[in-house]
Amino acid sequence: MSPLPRKKSHAPLIGAHMSIAGGVFNAILHAEQADCRTVQLFNKSSNQWAAKPLAREEIDRFHAELERTGIRPCVSHTSYLINCGSPDDTLYEKSTAALGVEYERCGVLALEYLVLHPGSHVGTGLEQGIARIAGALNRVLGSAPECSTVICLEAVSGAGSSIGRTFEELQAIIARVEDDSRIGVCLDTCHIFAAGYDIRSKAAYQATMTAFDRAVGLSRLKVWHCNDSVGALGSHRDRHEHLGRGQIGREAFGLLMQDDRFREVPKILETPKEEGGKQMDPVNLAFLRRLARRPAKK
Ligand code: ZN
Ligand code: MN
Ligand code: MN
Repeated sequence: MSPLPRKKSHAPLIGAHMSIAGGVFNAILHAEQADCRTVQLFNKSSNQWAAKPLAREEIDRFHAELERTGIRPCVSHTSYLINCGSPDDTLYEKSTAALGVEYERCGVLALEYLVLHPGSHVGTGLEQGIARIAGALNRVLGSAPECSTVICLEAVSGAGSSIGRTFEELQAIIARVEDDSRIGVCLDTCHIFAAGYDIRSKAAYQATMTAFDRAVGLSRLKVWHCNDSVGALGSHRDRHEHLGRGQIGREAFGLLMQDDRFREVPKILETPKEEGGKQMDPVNLAFLRRLARRPAKK
């Protein structure tokens, strides 16, 4: 990955998941229009296994837009079809191969991070699921030794048999990866809250961060997803709400935006894009910008 110039800015490192319709570079243009310093995108269609090869022109245009806008880091999110914890050999092989293809595309596009939902064990138990996931990661990383993209395991809300509902589960996967220098973690505020980690008060927020630091280590935390939660604490519901309008509320996001430990960690919106015909990214981005400016109220 060639080092591109970073935008000289003291603006908060916030962005949103942006569409790649018409070409991957369009996500960069959408981010620029929304005055974002960072962005998340799918590097292929998120609900299909097949990936159309990236044309040379599309890659060049992407790099040109990155350089021109200085939008960095760039985060990719994997397809929702991938389950690297699957006990079904066919689906497991398909998932590992698809993750490998996405990882290679991240290398070609020079993306810093690839966010992955670790997977589900589908009734076969945590131990087996964790071993399967780590096995897939070892194969993918091992077959692309030159790729410097960091795969970020996303903490999940813990619905069904999904793995990664606790920080300890994430660490159990990381501990089995041979080259863990290319493994990070993505914390999604909605997911961790729905999984049972409270962040709504200063004390609760600090306790959750301490728990993460003890289990995984804060230096692993490479990406934040900023979403409010429709579901209550510990509900295991993965439903994103506009910021400040869900069960998490305003204070948690203020604590996060004011936390100097995460100043250089991208904070990405995955909130609904529209509401009653109104574009909502500007509203949610403005919410984070306000909280970044003034200290969170007690
Ligand atoms: Zn995700
Ligand atoms: Mn997320
Ligand atoms: Mn989610």
